Amino acid sequence: MNDATIRHPGQRPPAGLNDLSVLPVFFKLTGKRVLVAGGSDAAAWKAELLAACGAQTYVYAENIGSKLKDLSSRTQLVHLIPRAVIDADFVDVALAIGDFEHSEEIEAFRAMARKAGVICNVIDKPQQSDFQFGSLVERSPLVIAISTDGAAPVFGQALRMRLETLLPDGLRHWAQAAKNWRPKIGALNLDFHARRKVWEIFAKRALAHPETKPGDEDFASMLAALEQPDLTTGTGHVALVGAGPGDPELLTLKAVRALQSADVVLFDDLVAPGVVDMARREALRVSVGKRGYKPSCTQEDIISLLLDHAKAGRRVVRLKGGDPSIFGRAGEEIAALQQAGISVEIIPGVTSASAAAASLKRSLTERETARRVQMITAHARNGQLPDDLDWRALADRKATTIVYMGVRTLQALADRLCAEGLDPNTPAVIIERASWPEERHIRSTIAKLPQAAEAAAIQSPSLVMIGHALRDPQDEQA
Ligand code: SAH
Repeated sequence: MNDATIRHPGQRPPAGLNDLSVLPVFFKLTGKRVLVAGGSDAAAWKAELLAACGAQTYVYAENIGSKLKDLSSRTQLVHLIPRAVIDADFVDVALAIGDFEHSEEIEAFRAMARKAGVICNVIDKPQQSDFQFGSLVERSPLVIAISTDGAAPVFGQALRMRLETLLPDGLRHWAQAAKNWRPKIGALNLDFHARRKVWEIFAKRALAHPETKPGDEDFASMLAALEQPDLTTGTGHVALVGAGPGDPELLTLKAVRALQSADVVLFDDLVAPGVVDMARREALRVSVGKRGYKPSCTQEDIISLLLDHAKAGRRVVRLKGGDPSIFGRAGEEIAALQQAGISVEIIPGVTSASAAAASLKRSLTERETARRVQMITAHARNGQLPDDLDWRALADRKATTIVYMGVRTLQALADRLCAEGLDPNTPAVIIERASWPEERHIRSTIAKLPQAAEAAAIQSPSLVMIGHALRDPQDEQA
């Protein structure tokens, strides 16, 4: 193995297994005979699941419900027998499932199964079951099942939902392609390492392009990639990804997926650790923070890192705080990458202004009082207020103004705004670390905000927000 990105140096096989509450196994049921005792809707759902696995499903119940009748009219795999189950029904059965109310019925069912050596499940009675069903994420032939050992099925379902959002539906096509290609790859008589490499290339591609249906050309280029000295799967790729304001829950699904398929993640200071943690375990993580105003990693350094990794064929995620298109110097990075012929994709993020508005429970626009939103930075290269701000626009009483990087120059900004005609009593808020656990905010007026922010020792990253849309309705009641 010559590619360090494939096996993380710290990743060793576990020294020993923790105790397991259950053993997850995946049971092949095609053509096997299975038994369902009970005529309820719950029994029908299990019969449907078993039939979906290709099992010959025999359902025994004195009263057969309409769901089961409907199911047996749709599939020839479900057979309805309108009587109670008896010993003889358990012959040659792979597994048995029962739905019963009363403990005597459960005991009788379990005794019959045990006698015939058939493992059984009693629906909603994990204590009386030999095996349980998990919550399913179905991308068949790829199947994921989750168990909480009966402790909290709703928790299991919530986890299932989380996985559903993370795993694109197209993965089923990749799993199917793997099935189709397996014999062809076997026929190549590759040695162990080469075979493993092919499947590693396959996995990398599937995770990088889950939505694209794999075709013959993928198969051919996978084999071609075998000839290359490293695991490069074609040319590199850079995604400029909005990391959002801090709270990892505010990442987009696209951002999470990009992080999960990245080889390298370059991230800024502003990016919360919880967001970087979403990256694939094997991904190389590089902090390219500019540390306040003392450049430790210049924009040129960042661009050359991006180019180097992409030219080496890696999938690079460039994580930028908030949205990449807002005061993130994204334009320079996009231009440099395009000039070098590297494919670049932008994944938008939640800008800190949106997170701040959400925290304050305010709308940035209001029909009468806030017709426009303007985003500015109050920090020029020399650390002073920029000298080309449009003061007339900033003094507009019907606008909401969001000031990025505005802590240092807040006093100068407030003085100048009031001098340019903005009412000194205009509501203004400063919000520090919006959406982080340690978020703080101070509500005031534009004239008084600088002093209040200083008294509270407000630090960067903070946003200054000015305008009548930010008025706290409780002030009006007072
Ligand atoms: N692209 C980012 C902005 C980068 S400029 C975005 O869309 O949010 C950096 C400035 O953004 C900081 O100085 C601060 O003014 C603001 N900022 C970023 N994250 C913030 C947060 N969580 N809370 C408050 N302000 C934030």
